[in-house]
Amino acid sequence: MGHIDEHTLELFFLEASEVAEQHDAIASHLRRCPSCSALSAEIAEFYELTAIHYSDRPAPDEAGKISGLPDDPYLQAFLKKVLVIPSDTSDPVNPPSG
Ligand SMILES: [Zn+2]
Repeated sequence: MGHIDEHTLELFFLEASEVAEQHDAIASHLRRCPSCSALSAEIAEFYELTAIHYSDRPAPDEAGKISGLPDDPYLQAFLKKVLVIPSDTSDPVNPPSG
């Protein structure tokens, strides 16, 4: 297979069902291709920074909606996945008051 386009890498990172059949091929390409591997790392970093940016938003409601999210279904799916993880560590930015 040739190089992997950014959208496919994004779906791969999100473990989207759209790329489930290509999963092994993409994973093995990433191990061999520094260029795609670097792009993949950039995508992961972008999502992680976005998750941090949105981490102070309210948890998703029962409909699975998070307020103020960008209009990107993949980004929303990722944020729903990462933001529902309960935080069991103290928050150095907003220490409990009182
Ligand atoms: Zn490549």
